[in-house]
Amino acid sequence: MIKRVRVRFAPSPTGGLHMGGVRTALFNYLFAKKHGGDFILRIEDTDQTRFVEGAEEYIINALKWCGIAPNEGVGFGDGPHKPYRQSERKELGIYKTYADKLIGSGHAYYAFDTSQELDEMRKRMEAAKVVAPQYNAITRQNMRNSLTLSEDEVKKLLENGTPYVVRLKVPRNEEIRFQDIIRGWVTVNSSQVDDKVLLKSDGMPTYHLAHIVDDIEMQISHAVRGEEWLPSAPAHILIYRYLGLENEMPLLAHLPLILNPDGNGKISKREARFPVFPLSWKDPREETPYIGYKESGYYPEAFVNILALLGWNPGTNEELFSVEELGKIFDFDRVHKSGAKFDPEKAKWFNQQYLRKKSDAELAEAFKPVLKEKGIVRDDKFIEEFCKLLKEKVQFTHEFWEQGKYVFEMPAHYDEKVITKKWNETSKDLYTKLLTRLENLSNWDAIILHDDFALAQTEIGKLDMQLVRVLITGVAGGPQLFDLLALLGKEESLTRLRTALSKLS
Ligand code: GLU
Repeated sequence: MIKRVRVRFAPSPTGGLHMGGVRTALFNYLFAKKHGGDFILRIEDTDQTRFVEGAEEYIINALKWCGIAPNEGVGFGDGPHKPYRQSERKELGIYKTYADKLIGSGHAYYAFDTSQELDEMRKRMEAAKVVAPQYNAITRQNMRNSLTLSEDEVKKLLENGTPYVVRLKVPRNEEIRFQDIIRGWVTVNSSQVDDKVLLKSDGMPTYHLAHIVDDIEMQISHAVRGEEWLPSAPAHILIYRYLGLENEMPLLAHLPLILNPDGNGKISKREARFPVFPLSWKDPREETPYIGYKESGYYPEAFVNILALLGWNPGTNEELFSVEELGKIFDFDRVHKSGAKFDPEKAKWFNQQYLRKKSDAELAEAFKPVLKEKGIVRDDKFIEEFCKLLKEKVQFTHEFWEQGKYVFEMPAHYDEKVITKKWNETSKDLYTKLLTRLENLSNWDAIILHDDFALAQTEIGKLDMQLVRVLITGVAGGPQLFDLLALLGKEESLTRLRTALSKLS
């Protein structure tokens, strides 16, 4: 029987969700869309020591902003498998039932070692030059657990309420083979796998046990997650096997890492010179907040498009995809094995492409608050025209001001380079003649201006268009001059020209 596609994004609320996490959520979302399946948000909060206030809410808001909302789970509606927070699921007793089953079949055991005893074991192994000291098939023989203690002793310890953990009994030298959708067959020797803790002394399950129980209970068809979980996958396979659930377990897909722009490691949120979080994030444990993609002026469509191409390709040279389009074409056969380098400049380019798709009215709406803050009042039509003109020059809405503030403010300076190079003793006379000509122009639009300037060249002398631009705007570059003059209007343009002529001698 082919299982219904049910995927989950299962973050731990240990901080803000960074772009790597969003990419994992996105690939889950797209896969669910492609196959008409379900996308679930499960909160894996069994490690109470790492719980961070506000993280869960942040995750939910980030998914909403990206437009990749799950259809089931925390913050997105209950389904048949509620609750979706592991701390609440623990109360149902389900994790303990599975742990007991493993103990019953001899594949898990109680370990009573204190942290001091564990420390001593580590030290002994370090002294013996063991590279990666771990609790495993060899070391467990010298520790205090239900494999080394007598049945009576174990019973007594349990009755006394002695703290214990439940560990997976990993065999000593066995080949563990499993298939990953992206990586193909993976083979690991069990000697490299430690006896993972499944239940902690506070009765909470660890990630290893909890996610397996939940993936089974929630009928998850594919577990799609970051590459950092690949090393624990062999232990997970054993757990499924010992529970007799190997045939029911989800298919595994480990996504490649997102690498920093140099390609020499994972993106570090502290060192990155670009946003790492979708929305601004203030970690209660840290001083400085992190500015998000949203607050940096990125459109969610652009952000999602950027992420989609980090580790996946469409098989063509096409680069611009809406999330709906991606949901039709995405599949794991085009997800790469190797890490994907993030290019912050290319990210800006993506935003620019989406900005250009916006209508002038939408851009004007987004730009209005900037004008308002500066106390500038202009009618909607003017702002729309302004955005239309400047649209090709910006990558973000906030750049409209930097790129075109001269439209709203009289020039305070005139580009020095241009003036030094182009303003000479004949200029004043020539451009005063131009002023008079323009004063007599009855119609004022870009085409008429274009034609009149062409005529003026033959009648009053050779005009330098860059110089005209500087006299009117103060700056050396910008959109088409005649469009700009048309936008400013006759009165404003001529006042500016007159002012410039009075200042320059
Ligand atoms: N809670 C894990 C995390 O924080 C989930 C890993 C998984 O998807 O299995 O990434």
